[in-house]
Amino acid sequence: MRYVLPDLPYPYNALEPHMDEETVRIHHDMHHNGYVNGLNNALDKLEEARKQQDFALIKHWERELAFNGAGHMLHTLYWESMSPHGGGQPRGRLANQIESDFGGFESFVKEFSAAAAAVEGSGWALLVYLPEEARLAIVTVEKHQNLLLPGAVPLLALDVWEHAYYLKYKNKRADFIKNWWNLVNWRGVEYRFEDQCGCCCSGC
Ligand code: FE
Repeated sequence: MRYVLPDLPYPYNALEPHMDEETVRIHHDMHHNGYVNGLNNALDKLEEARKQQDFALIKHWERELAFNGAGHMLHTLYWESMSPHGGGQPRGRLANQIESDFGGFESFVKEFSAAAAAVEGSGWALLVYLPEEARLAIVTVEKHQNLLLPGAVPLLALDVWEHAYYLKYKNKRADFIKNWWNLVNWRGVEYRFEDQCGCCCSGC
């Protein structure tokens, strides 16, 4: 199986003015594509090592697999986390869960924004669902793969690598985060949440 770069779910300029066309184009076509290629390459090299029964470089290729694999998966969710018709607030069961786990939508936005702003260097802020506990949590990730929580299912992803905002926002990461809320595709987050929590089946 070869991984392929998924198409953007909207045109390159569709997220203007909050996210500029050039940033989206470079981010998707070059950065995200680089992770897809890196993931395929790591899988090829691991396959080769298996055939040769030569695992001298196993540590390197496992690291490449984790970095590029997580990079590809998080970027795919990132593009799906936004919409030209985004913004506003979540509805229904997701809104209730956010109320229960974070003390309300405003409080959630404040906590998530602070977490994203505080990521050291390059990384991500994620809203995740924890199936064992049937609750939501905010997780911050360094690079693409460090500090990930096993078992946590990402529902919403915000990329705070400099390549996500530097052309337009320069070093003002907090301004980027503030404007990013205008792009959040809450209908998609609701769909992923309901798919995980089993609410639709159990009638909770
Ligand atoms: Fe990125």
